[in-house]
Formats: sequence, structure tokens, C-alpha cells
Amino acid sequence: MYDPLAHPQLSPNQPYPESFWAFNTGKRLHFPQLEATVQTEVVIIGAGFTGLSAAIALREKGVETALVEANSVGWGCAGRNAGFALPGSGRLGFSALKSAYGKNAAIGIISEYYQAVDNLKHFIDSNNLQVDLVQGGYLKIASKAKDINLFEQQLNDLPSTYASKLSLLSAQEVDTHFIETHQQFGGLYNSSSFGINPLKMALAMAELARENGAHVFQNSPVLSYEKAQNASHGKRYVVTTTKGKIYCDHIILATNAYTPNKSLPVFYRAQFPVLSSVLVTHPLRDEQLKFVKQAGLMCMDTRALKYYYRLLPGNRILFGGRGAVWGYNHDSPLIKRKLINALKSSFPNLDDARIDYFWSGWVSVSQDEIPHIGSLPSDPNIHFAMGYCGSGVAFTHTAGKRLAQLVTSKNDVPELPIYNTFPKDFPFAPFRRLGLWGYYQWQSLMDWVS
Ligand SMILES: Cc1cc2nc3c(=O)[nH]c(=O)nc-3n(C[C@H](O)[C@H](O)[C@H](O)COP(=O)(O)OP(=O)(O)OC[C@H]3O[C@@H](n4cnc5c(N)ncnc54)[C@H](O)[C@@H]3O)c2cc1C
Repeated sequence: MYDPLAHPQLSPNQPYPESFWAFNTGKRLHFPQLEATVQTEVVIIGAGFTGLSAAIALREKGVETALVEANSVGWGCAGRNAGFALPGSGRLGFSALKSAYGKNAAIGIISEYYQAVDNLKHFIDSNNLQVDLVQGGYLKIASKAKDINLFEQQLNDLPSTYASKLSLLSAQEVDTHFIETHQQFGGLYNSSSFGINPLKMALAMAELARENGAHVFQNSPVLSYEKAQNASHGKRYVVTTTKGKIYCDHIILATNAYTPNKSLPVFYRAQFPVLSSVLVTHPLRDEQLKFVKQAGLMCMDTRALKYYYRLLPGNRILFGGRGAVWGYNHDSPLIKRKLINALKSSFPNLDDARIDYFWSGWVSVSQDEIPHIGSLPSDPNIHFAMGYCGSGVAFTHTAGKRLAQLVTSKNDVPELPIYNTFPKDFPFAPFRRLGLWGYYQWQSLMDWVS
């Protein structure tokens, strides 16, 4: 598997991972490879949700745009995630944001996160996108007794506009109306969250971008970008792919966790690509499914090493959690076995469930655990987005629009820590993987003793 910290470059023509989505998304789109020298106003590198959203927003403003993807549209995280559209990104909730950045900034960030879900829903509905949307809501499950008190504190702290969207549930309410799972102490439920097929979403967005006049190129890894000599073709930059070149005035780096750190080293020390793995069961029999009380429900628990799961259309359970530490180990039987054991210990009646799909993807973790969308301090015409920390299905949609504003109308981007601050470096960056390995051992121990 491609590893952004280990491999110098992303190779083209790699198939989608063998995911449930890839096998259940019939339609594929053909986009050409870039095999010429062309010019445009903006080049977006990476056709995931961020790049696609930026392309659509730029075309709405009439800006000439080319979107360049190393493989196929949605090949990165966008086409292989769990499809939870939630009001959040990064890892900090409202109270943590308030301690780090003050109340006003925290309200501003939370407002962006909540609006992102509504905006994405509106975007899907108004364009009539067929993305298997299920309005099942999102339940955060307290795995330890103390977590329910934390939920209560968080709810009391949250401004009422957002708190009114959440309901605190007792363990019995969770059991009776939502899901029966091993060892839970109640939950926090948000009914506005919804689930999608993320690969269908990426493909639908690409089709829309093309219809609106964006030039989309697949299997065209960007090898480098640099200032154009003597402003060739009247443009500031030249972006070089394996078989072509594009001269342009702005560059958007929408490569997120898949950024090849050796050839595009812009975030090398500031971004930590971390693997998350997912499995999907064979369709379950009615009697196996009795533990799920609400169709389309999406859940995450609060174990130190968290697990997330949802009931998919077709009566399968998708169950995800931490992946391997190193890319070469992504499909190790040990990692798969750990996930299966966690699934079965959470839902003992799934003991004989067959597993049909297992895959992994890289999520982008920033040092301060918030996403960063901005322009490079050294070059205000190169823009970037990274650091969603595994929570980007909804917020990437907003991030893409903010990137488009950085190109056309910078002053429209709110002054918030998630915008226009360059991510900080990780201390001891070359040893991040060893640190992660140690962290996983420690957290497994904590989950085992608690
Ligand atoms: C297993 C898993 C489950 C997840 N589940 C959820 C979830 O349920 N809810 C949620 O909110 N978030 C989830 N996430 C996170 C979410 O998927 C991401 O935050 C989001 O998809 C990021 O989108 P993006 O467009 O920024 O990046 P990506 O979709 O990763 O797109 C980046 C693209 O850039 C391309 N690229 C990289 N380098 C180059 C280059 N040199 N030249 C050309 N192209 C290049 C890559 O090929 C890739 O397609 C999950 C992630 C994983 C891995």
C-alpha cells in the first residue's frame, strides 16, 4: 500500500481499494490523463472531497480550473471512508476549543462545523445526487461511566443553538431505542447527522464539476510545482505531472493525508498520516440484527482506541477503528483479527457473522488536532487544506468553498484558528510512527484494565 511517509511518489493507475463502496458503486467515470502543456487560472491537486468542492465553488464563480488526480476520483480518503456526515472535524470539541482559543473562536469554529452538515445536505438535495443518503443520526456511546458526565458537561457548555440539536440518553434509552451493545453507560445523540456512500458522492461531485466546466485529469500524479521562469505563458507557476505541465496563477493542495511527503514536502513535519481500517459484514439475518433499533444509525464509542460503526443499507454492519502503524502492514491478519474481535465483543450475537470486506486508508492528523485551511505564509497564491483528523466528510465541503474564497475573495474567509494558520510541526517528526506504536500499546492496556 502507498505510504505517504515512505514512498517518494504516488503511482498512477492504482485501482480503488477492495472496499464495500468500490463493489457497490456501479458507475465509473472516464477522465483523461494530462498529456500536454496547458494553462489555466487555478490548478487543484487531489480529487477528493476537498478538491472537488473547491473545483465546483470556483466554477460557480467562473474561474478557469483544472483538477489533477494521481489515480481515480475519490481514490484517497474520500472514496474509502465510513460515510458519516457529522458536525465536527479535527479532534477538539467545543470545550477544548474554548480552552485553546477562547469562547468567540470556539463558537465560530463550531458554527462552521454545524453549518457544514446542513450545507452538504442542501448540496446533495438541490443537485439530486444519488449517494444512498440515510438520515439515521449519530450516537456517541459512553463506554465508561465517567464519560456520560463528560457528555453532560459538554452539553451544558455548548451554546444553546447547537446544544438543542443534541439529546443526552440514559443507558436504558440507548438500549431500547437505538442499539444494544456491550458495556455502555448512555449516549449523546444528534439526529441531523446522516450517512452516505462516499465513493458515489465523490463521483457525483466530479460529474458536477465537469458539467460546470472544470477540466478533470486522472492518473496524472503531480511530481512538482514551482515558480514559472520569467512568468512563462503569463502565469506564475508551472505544475508538472508524469506526462504534462500546467501553467497557472494559483495552486490548491488538496492532497491531505495522501500528500507524498518526499516530492511535495510542504507538510512533511506538520502532518501525520495515520491508518484507519474498516470491515463490512455479510448481510445479516433478521435475528442477528435485533440489536439495532434504528435504521441507518451511526455510532462511535469512547474507548481509548475508538471504534465506529453503522448499519448499511442491505443489512450489513460497517465497523472501523485504528489501522496498522506502518503502510506495508495495512492488511495484516492481526489488524483484521483485532477489528473482528472488537466487533464481536461489542455485539456477541454477531459471533458467526461473515466478513466480506476489509480495507484501510490514511487520515491526516495535525499537531494541534484542528484542520488547517489557508494560504502558504511564503506564497499567498498557493493554498492548502489538511488535518481533518479522520472527520472530514461534511467539513471538506466547507473547506473547499473556503479555498475557493482564498483565490477569489480572501476577506470572505472568517478569521478563525482553522483558517489561515499554518499547521505546527510535530516534535521529533521522524519518530512519529514509533510514538504512535507506543501510544497504541498504552491505550490497548488502558482499554483492557478499564
Ligand atoms: C477508513 C476511514 C474512515 C473514515 N470515516 C470517516 C467518516 O465516517 N466521517 C468523516 O467525517 N470522515 C471520515 N474519514 C476521513 C475523511 O474520509 C477525510 O477527512 C476526507 O475524505 C478528506 O478528503 P480530502 O479530499 O481532503 O482528501 P482525500 O480524499 O484523501 O483526497 C486527496 C487526493 O489527493 C490525491 N493526491 C495526493 N498526492 C497527489 C499528487 N502528487 N498528485 C495528484 N493527486 C494527488 C490522492 O490520490 C487523493 O485522491 C475517514 C477516513 C478513513 C481513512
